[in-house]
Parts: sequence; structure tokens; C-alpha cells
Amino acid sequence: MPDACVSRYENAAEIALHVVPLPALADNYIWLLHDDSGDAIVVDPGEAAPVEAALSARKLTLRAVLLTHHHPDHIGGADRLRETYDVPVYAPDDDRIAVATHRVKDGETLSLPHPLARFDIIAVPGHTLSHIVYVGEGVLLCGDTLFSLGCGRLFEGTPAQMLSSLQRLASLPGDTLVCCGHEYTAANGRFAQTIEPDNTALKQRLDEVASLRADHRPSVPTTLSSELACNPFLRVDSAAVVDWCRRHGSANDPVARFAALRSAKDVFRA
Ligand code: ZN
Ligand code: FE
Repeated sequence: MPDACVSRYENAAEIALHVVPLPALADNYIWLLHDDSGDAIVVDPGEAAPVEAALSARKLTLRAVLLTHHHPDHIGGADRLRETYDVPVYAPDDDRIAVATHRVKDGETLSLPHPLARFDIIAVPGHTLSHIVYVGEGVLLCGDTLFSLGCGRLFEGTPAQMLSSLQRLASLPGDTLVCCGHEYTAANGRFAQTIEPDNTALKQRLDEVASLRADHRPSVPTTLSSELACNPFLRVDSAAVVDWCRRHGSANDPVARFAALRSAKDVFRA
């Protein structure tokens, strides 16, 4: 396997499944989860080839495909995987995801026999309106909603929707592994530092990210507790973020602060 596929958490004792980020397209991660008997699922296969390569290198059998939202860089390989492996494709109820065989929605639990796994479905409107995440087995498969040190752009939802979606994720257990859709961490971190230049947890995380990336290793997964300490989009009530918003003329309520951060990030060039 290429080194880029090996994350620090792949064999973490507390995680029942092996959790493997497969680099795809320009900067996407397809998440491969598998057990020791060789049963595997993949999340957000933007293309099929990296999945096929990983399945054959690791001698795994693909059992299901899970999709978080309709963007092509997350579903582009699902058709070919469904045809080749004859597997179910779980997705939110959105006509733009024609490849789906099973629709899942907020409040439901997806129970898979092979690998044995249960995932709660949470609706997270914001990046897109029908975006969902899968939470279970110690991992959060969050697509383009929560990134390490950042969050997804608001293509369809409002700041209020995205903030409330992120707050639902923020209430999950701190040791949950955040498995996001893109390697955006370093660029996100440069923006985060402009918001909270004195945040020492953020500084440490950026050092860690720099050394991982220098070794061509993924900066994710990371833990939710690390994100709570470092990610400004999860910290709209922190003194530093409130202070930044005050200096940038935005209002006192959390939604206005979140909106101000998101707009500033949209035009930020590191
Ligand atoms: Zn997207
Ligand atoms: Fe994406």
C-alpha cells in the first residue's frame, strides 16, 4: 500500500474497524472501513480506481457503499462499484443521487451485517440541503460538513442551518474520529490562526499536520476533542472568536459570528 493510506488510527485498539483514508481525485479522501475477516465498506467514492486498488491490495470484499451528499467528487465512482461488486448504495433521499439503492434519513440507524457495524444517520443541511453524516463504531463520516480546522462551504444552506448541523456533531463523544472528505487541514489552519493566533492547541495541531504532510501522510482522521479545541467554526462562543468578530464589525449572536467566519474564509487566500 502507498504510505498515504496509512493513518495513525488505522489499528487503534479502541476502534473496532480499520479506518483507512484513500486519497482520490485532487484532494478527496474516500473512507475504507474493514474488519479483520476482510469485509469492507467505502464512504464517498468520488472515483472507483483507488477503491478497487485498495480492495485487491488488502484482499477485501466490498459489501456496501455509503454516500453523504450528491457532489460528483463524492459519488463519481459509486456506479462502477455498484455494478462491479453488486453492493447496496446508501444515500440521502435526493434525486441528484441516482445511483442509490437504499435511502436513509435523519434519526435512522443503518445496521450492516458484514462488517458488523451500526451507524446513526444525522441530517446536516448547510454544505448541501440533503447532506447526511454517518456516526458509529467510534467514527464520524462527515463528508464536506466538518473538516479538520474548517467546515464546508455553504452552497445550499444558510449559516443558521450549518451552525446547527455543526453543533449536533460537536456534541458527539470527544474521542470520535473525524473522517472528512478532503485534505484541507493545512490551508484551513492558516485561516484559523488569523482568527485565534494565541490558541496553543491550534499551534500544536498545525505542527502535527505539517510533519504528517511532510511525510505524505493524511492529516485525518483526527479526534472531535481536538477539533473542539482548534476549529474556529466549532468555537463561535469562545472569547477569541467573539473578540475577532467584534473587531470585524459583526454582531453578538452565534449565527452572525459563524456567518462572519464563513464569509471571511470564503475570500481568504493563505
Ligand atoms: Zn461537496
Ligand atoms: Fe467534496
